[in-house]
Amino acid sequence: MQHKKRILTGDRPTGQLHLGHYVGTLKNRVRLQDDYDCFFIIADLQMLTDHLEEYASIEGNVFEVMCDYLGVGLRPENTFFVQSQVPELAELTMYFSFLVTLARLQRNPTVKDEAKTYGVTSMSYGFLGYPVSQAADILAFKADLIPIGQDQLPHVEQTREIVRSFNRIFDKEVFVLPQPLVGEVPILVGTDGDNKMSKSLDNFIAFAHSPQETERRILNMVTDHKRAYRKDPGHPDECFTFRYWSIFSPSDTPLVCRECESATRGCKECKTQLAIKLNDYLVEIRERRQQYASQPDLVWDILATGTRRARVVAAETLAEVREAMKISFPQLLMKGGK
Ligand code: SF4
Repeated sequence: MQHKKRILTGDRPTGQLHLGHYVGTLKNRVRLQDDYDCFFIIADLQMLTDHLEEYASIEGNVFEVMCDYLGVGLRPENTFFVQSQVPELAELTMYFSFLVTLARLQRNPTVKDEAKTYGVTSMSYGFLGYPVSQAADILAFKADLIPIGQDQLPHVEQTREIVRSFNRIFDKEVFVLPQPLVGEVPILVGTDGDNKMSKSLDNFIAFAHSPQETERRILNMVTDHKRAYRKDPGHPDECFTFRYWSIFSPSDTPLVCRECESATRGCKECKTQLAIKLNDYLVEIRERRQQYASQPDLVWDILATGTRRARVVAAETLAEVREAMKISFPQLLMKGGK
């Protein structure tokens, strides 16, 4: 039987996931799980690169992310794991750190962009080096494919450089080159109409939000700024709310467009209808999410099972790595007695 190819992808547990994550990646992951052996990492250590002061919220956030994953339809049989609970990843990061120069890390355009986005002026060693840690996450599981957006390509290239260096220096083909699975990662603009949907900007709609809260947020959304009065014809192409119609209820867009342009549809009515559509769209996800959220033991069990599996796979890779690097020390293992 031919083995399924392995994919590694995941999220940092900075809080509940929202529609921006769904449109950007989660929907795609639900599709990928049918054809690939999926490893989903909840990268809590990576969260500390720029959210260090929020360390106390990690555990709660990990639980919320897991409920979101399962809610959107990722099956419990996938391998879900917490980065910090697989210490082999930290060890591998240390070994890889000898293979990457400081200048190479400083050139990484994605790291520079992220530092700018999150207002990081004085970069920590952990922040600058997180592409190395990411390479360890990928290579510990010998992932074949990494689903990413275009902006993440420098990280995969960094990982591929580490593979080449490692195999060459230690003269053993321990790792194979992972391939990027580059897809267009659609960006959902938040309810403010200006920025990417994000929790920190409070312009988001979470799976965990109630239908009432979702409606409130939609009713506050901006519309066509050229349409001053209800009797004025609207311009759907210039209306930010209309973009939500296109994403979440595309079959309705011809009617919405017609009624908007002929001014037979008002903006408040349009947004109320959109809220109904969106809440309908989210019913199944929310019900499933709620079922899991009400059974925390089950959610933690799924994560514990995945984390155990991840540790087994990572430990096998680590054994190969140490052997290639001539730091296995079998003599000490025998003497240790344990
Ligand atoms: S009617 Fe709908 S699509 Fe038209 S401008 Fe108002 S909110 Fe936008």
